[in-house]
Amino acid sequence: MLTKTKIYLSSPHMGTSEQKYVSEAFDTNWIAPLGPHVDGFENDIKSYLGGKKEVAVLSSGTASIHMALKLLGVTRGDEVLCQSFTFSASANPILYQGASPIFIDSERDTWNMCPELLEIAIKDRIEKHKKPKAIIAVHLYGMPYKANEINAIANKYDIPVVEDSAEALGSTYFGKTCGMLSDMGIISFNGNKIITTSGGGALVVKTKELKEKAVFYATQARDNAAHYEHSSIGYNYRMSNVLAGIGRGQMEVLDDRVRARRQNFEFYKKHLSEFKDITFLEEPDNFFSNRWITCIETPSFELREKIRLELLKDDIESRPLWKPMHMQPIFKDNLHFSNGISEDLFQRGLCLPSGSNLTQDDLSRILNNITKTLKL
Ligand SMILES: *Cc1c(COP(=O)(O)O)cnc(C)c1O
Repeated sequence: MLTKTKIYLSSPHMGTSEQKYVSEAFDTNWIAPLGPHVDGFENDIKSYLGGKKEVAVLSSGTASIHMALKLLGVTRGDEVLCQSFTFSASANPILYQGASPIFIDSERDTWNMCPELLEIAIKDRIEKHKKPKAIIAVHLYGMPYKANEINAIANKYDIPVVEDSAEALGSTYFGKTCGMLSDMGIISFNGNKIITTSGGGALVVKTKELKEKAVFYATQARDNAAHYEHSSIGYNYRMSNVLAGIGRGQMEVLDDRVRARRQNFEFYKKHLSEFKDITFLEEPDNFFSNRWITCIETPSFELREKIRLELLKDDIESRPLWKPMHMQPIFKDNLHFSNGISEDLFQRGLCLPSGSNLTQDDLSRILNNITKTLKL
């Protein structure tokens, strides 16, 4: 009898060159958080983003957000506006800096930060003499946020935007690659993302000086001296040369991975469109999503759970949408500006398996479980 294998939400998918780059690192003994692959990977990302921005590869996307806030001078007592509908790693670095997050709810078109609520929040904070130090907006599940609207408001009040592009490498917005739409961008190469170095991230900035400053802080903030001299707090956040080798191989297949993930989305949409209860998030004009994760909206929490549990019985991983930060116990005392949208999506939405390595058999098996539940 054939035993069925577990189907994951999003699992790593190696190409053909990763091992070659890793072997090169071993052969030349570059097993450190510096080396030729670190430089090479940074250059690969830089060219992917169009060549005009500077890239520092770091140990994680979370570390990259932390360094972005550090470069922007976010410090104890400051307030930072952050998209509520996201993974906690978007917000935690605000706490690392001793600052307070204020959460902004989503709009329906993209599920991302609502520009109107953002402006309401900024006006409120300025009135109370607490002008926010930064804005963290997120391209959730690969769908770009409304960058033109968000940037216009940010510029009006002169507040920098950190673009959390952890889930959106390969997405574009009016032809521009996500990760370079705002003042500072971050990318994640965690194991579940569209490409992975097992763990890793990148910070995208506008100038060489900013990049050098980020690398300085990320490598223990050692001042220029023969001995170890320190006049600021340092971090151990640089990416290892071995992992950067994996990243170089993964960059070669990024476009294929985007294509495969978008095909998953098309497959689910095609076969589930007969069920009026199930809806998908469509791309507004000029928005191109990498479809990192295909998400569905169901009419109720109960049906969402029925589908999720049916999949689980067949060893298929699916997951409710992100629980908004303003509903998380750790942020219960933080201010939020909400409209009910992310809370509603959290109740009714489900992430379907979306790996670029899903086979046609996997997809059919997932689909059968969903349609079986819907026909009950
Ligand atoms: C994964 C993720 C991060 C954090 O990236 P890591 O590399 O896992 O630290 C941040 N924000 C969002 C939206 C993410 O999905």
